[in-house]
Amino acid sequence: MPRDALETLQLERLRSTVKWAYDRVPFYQKVFQEQQISPKDIRSLDDLVRLPFTMKADLQASYPYGMFAVPLADVVRVHSSSGTTGQPTVVGYTRNDLEAWSELIARVLTAGGVTREDVVQIAFGYGMFTGGFGLHYGVERIGATVIPVSSGNTARQIMIMKDFGTTALVCTPSYALYIAEVLAEQKVDPEALKLRVGLFGAEPWTENMRSEIESRLGVSATDNYGLSEVMGPGVSMECELKQGMHINEDSFIAEIIDPDTGEALPPGTTGELVITTLTKEALPMIRYRTRDITRVTLEPCGCGRTFARMEKPSGRTDDMLIIRGVNVFPSQIETVLMEIEETEPHYQIIVTRQGAMDNLEVQVEVNERVFSDEMRMMNAVANKIGQRIASVLGLSAKVTLVEPKSLQRSEGKANRVQDLRKLS
Ligand SMILES: [Zn+2]
Repeated sequence: MPRDALETLQLERLRSTVKWAYDRVPFYQKVFQEQQISPKDIRSLDDLVRLPFTMKADLQASYPYGMFAVPLADVVRVHSSSGTTGQPTVVGYTRNDLEAWSELIARVLTAGGVTREDVVQIAFGYGMFTGGFGLHYGVERIGATVIPVSSGNTARQIMIMKDFGTTALVCTPSYALYIAEVLAEQKVDPEALKLRVGLFGAEPWTENMRSEIESRLGVSATDNYGLSEVMGPGVSMECELKQGMHINEDSFIAEIIDPDTGEALPPGTTGELVITTLTKEALPMIRYRTRDITRVTLEPCGCGRTFARMEKPSGRTDDMLIIRGVNVFPSQIETVLMEIEETEPHYQIIVTRQGAMDNLEVQVEVNERVFSDEMRMMNAVANKIGQRIASVLGLSAKVTLVEPKSLQRSEGKANRVQDLRKLS
């Protein structure tokens, strides 16, 4: 679609989304009134900057359904975040939302080279996470064959890959590398598999990882981006040229702002990505602050798509870590540690990448009594912390108990996280 026609469509959809949200969601009525703005004030796309931002905290405060714009009877599916800091965020979809989502995923798959001839193995988790079900219905939409294997059980993944003739793999990039490692251990030649494309997302990865995955699995690997609050996967995707992810601009308006001042920045500038949904009925999002740092370019792409492209996010404006595809806030780990009476409030979170796998280690000081006690007590405390972290984060961690006063103290802002992965 030519840019001018696209912008006309965006404005039409923006105006109806803003009105839809304002008429139906008390949160939007309140914040619009505070800014003394009404849906009628949106006359051009430039007026978007006059609208207030929506934050993750707003969604959490309205847990679970407070920001839904339709009665629950019209919501046909919900997904939710794993429960990050405090409340999880719950997102809902009407039947039309699911239709639109499938269409966007169909674009992601098509841009990545998947056709109806393909056999697509989805090794994203199925469940509350948007990745599994999100990709699933897009695969069905293009008429390819979907294998809904879900995540984990690598031996079974490989067995299915071989026996079912998988040609396309969908998972996190780190899991793809892990599968490649296991294939090598089992002395399976990737050439003997039918794999030809891979669509990877849900966590940051580098160009180096891409070349690794491509050579070790014998696939063309593309990246795609999304977040549950605005839809899930399907916000943007790479085409075969792999020069940034095309944003589905008929469904989302992407802005780049200065994360400190909130001011909109011109195209081509690096800043925080802000997304406004243009078609969503159940949970319209106006100027949602993603916290992802990226750059958007309007330069034409060789593939012919007219959609703007965003770079892989280079970081976050908050302290969220993405470990094995799971969103982790250091404060969640801190909360766990504070509940364990044998620990001192001094800890370090260390994230490393060994081969393809992210490892999370938590070093925490214990009190003198525990430290001077026998090994048995130390082990019991470490196990207790490990189990709590696993149940809160859904992620295993190595817990190392250290002597009181042995961790480095910082002056000023404590630096409790060491992310030693080379992600950019
Ligand atoms: Zn392109």
